[in-house]
Order: sequence, then C-alpha cells, then structure tokens
Amino acid sequence: MKRILVAGAGGFIGGHLVKSLIEQGHLVKAVDKKPLQDWYQIDSKATNNVMDLSILDNCRLSTESIDVVYNLAADMGGMGFIEAHKAECMLSVLINTHLLIAARANHVDRFFFASSACVYSADKQTQPDIVPLKEDDAYPAMPEDGYGWEKLFSERMSRHFREDFGLKTRIARFHNVYGPNGTYDGGREKAPAAVCRKVAQAKISGIHKINIWGDGHQTRSFMYIDDCVKGTEMILNQDYFEPINLGSEEMVSINQLVDIVEGIAGIKLTREHDLKAPQGVRGRSSDNSLLRETYGWEPKISLIEGLEKTYAWIFDEISSQKRSY
Ligand code: NAD
Repeated sequence: MKRILVAGAGGFIGGHLVKSLIEQGHLVKAVDKKPLQDWYQIDSKATNNVMDLSILDNCRLSTESIDVVYNLAADMGGMGFIEAHKAECMLSVLINTHLLIAARANHVDRFFFASSACVYSADKQTQPDIVPLKEDDAYPAMPEDGYGWEKLFSERMSRHFREDFGLKTRIARFHNVYGPNGTYDGGREKAPAAVCRKVAQAKISGIHKINIWGDGHQTRSFMYIDDCVKGTEMILNQDYFEPINLGSEEMVSINQLVDIVEGIAGIKLTREHDLKAPQGVRGRSSDNSLLRETYGWEPKISLIEGLEKTYAWIFDEISSQKRSY
C-alpha cells in the first residue's frame, strides 16, 4: 500500500485513476482546483481536496508524506480549446514545476508526468496517411504551439529532476484518450466525445444532421480510458524512464469515427463540413514498438468497444440533463 497524490483528480483521467488506485488498496489524496461538484468522479475512500496546484505552497502541502505523485493536472482541452488558449495552456508549466520542487523537498519516491502526442514535430504530421510517431520524432522540436511546447518543456524538466536530484520521474505521451466520465461539451471536449454528443443530440432531437470540423479526412488514433489507466500505472511502477508513447495504433479518419458512432446509434446523418474550424495536424497515430518491447503490452481495447461505452454514457447524460453546462 502506497500514499499517492493524484493531481487533477477531478478531471477525466484523474478520476478514473483514483478509482483504480483505491480498488488496489492504496491511500489516495485527490486534488483538483475545480469545486467538488464539478469533479467527474469523487471516491469517498480518497481524501478529496480543492486546491490550486500552480501555487508552490499548495504543492508542498499536497506532497507531505506522499510516496508517489501522478501529475494529471493541466489546463487543456481539444483542438478548439488549445488553439485559442495558448497562454493558459503554457501556464500549466507552473503546476509541474512546483509539484517537482515540492516532491523533491518532501522526499517523494516516484513522479508521473502526463505528456502528450502534441509534443511531436508538426512536419511529421502533414498527411492523413502519416507514418505513426516514434518517440524520437519529438526532436528537432516543433511541437503544437502553446500546449505542446509546455508539455515538451515539462518532460525535460522532469528528466533533469531525475538526473540531478534522483527523483524517479516517469513520462507517458498520451495519444487522444476517451471514455465515460469526461468532457463532452463546453468547448474543451475532444473529437470522440464531441462526435458522440452530436450523434446523441441528433438521435434525441430527430434532426438528422451533423457538423464535422474539417473535411473529415484528418486521421487520429484513440485510446480507451481503461487502457490509459493500466498503462499509466505500469509506466510509473517500472524502471524505464524516457518519455514513451501511450496510445492506440488503430488509426481512423474523423469521417470513419463518425461512421462508427452512427452505427452504434443506429442512424445515418447528413454531414456538414466546417472547413474553417480548428483541425490540428493532418494525421497522427502512435507507434507502439517501444511500448511493446519495454513492457510486452500495449492498449488493446478496440475503438468500437470503447465507443459503445462512451456513447452510452454521453447519451444517458444528455437524456437525463445531469450536466447543465
Ligand atoms: P481534464 O481537463 O479532464 O483534467 C485535468 C484536470 O486538471 C481538470 O480537472 C482541472 O481542473 C485540473 N487542473 C487544472 N489546473 C489545475 C491547477 N492549477 N491545480 C489543480 N488542478 C488543476 O483532462 P484529462 O483528459 O483528464 O487529462 C489529464 C492529463 O493528461 C493532462 O495533463 C493532459 O494534458 C494529459 N493528456 C490528456 C489527453 C487526452 O486525450 N485526454 C491527451 C494527451 C495528454
């Protein structure tokens, strides 16, 4: 049993991670800056604190008597958010920097930083049929402006805390994570949740139209949340310390993503393509060779299986109007 801090526990991935760690019998301190009523999941067996972790004193308090830190706290969202909020995304550097300083001072043993596929060079992602991204493709650096630069810098800072101060830092580059109990509207949602929401709204309203950002030929891979949590815990607990991809290799176009969700919902929608909407890079997928070599494991849950669960959750949320934002 370990004493574990989950930073960003009120968010999508943090909420699922807390649940998994509690099930394994760990003592979990869950921290997020959002008011408790806005947390996606609250586990009564965890200690739940509302605190802004961009402030050093709050990081010091949160890491007292802690063995392991998972840093999942960041100001982030889908393309619509990160392209329009570059400064806010970059300010997340304060969270990781102050958590690292506090973790070192409080003799934390292991520290996980949630990085992103947005660290990869833009010039490696210009075509829909791209070669999947390998870890080395992050350098020479030309990451996503704002959000990607912050992730790359914080990866680097985590690395130097390991080299210079002996803190066991571990870094995963998440590729598009999706699943229930995450953001599906309000402007920060990512493609799978946005498509599920739009299809569910069409089903409920009877207005059989869907607005798609871009021409829909842009490609991505999407990892289901259960694989993300499993991989995150594995990377934290093992010896490998360089940044490593954590994503799916099942690449689809956004049009194919819509096909799958339409199939799950049992409807066919008229598609309107908004060519002026934010689209991000043209193509992106994970190369999991290093993940397989290092751990003998990679994300396995198929897109259709994960989307069935995600669509069902979003459909219920919208139907019951549990969330009003
Ligand atoms: P999320 O937005 O659902 O969760 C992030 C949480 O961090 C939010 O609840 C937010 O309130 C909290 N937070 C922000 N600033 C804070 C602060 N100053 N102090 C305390 N809490 C703060 O996002 P998520 O999808 O759960 O992502 C978790 C991590 O994984 C983030 O670092 C994100 O950049 C990274 N990531 C996610 C994806 C994905 O597809 N979801 C992909 C790549 C990387």
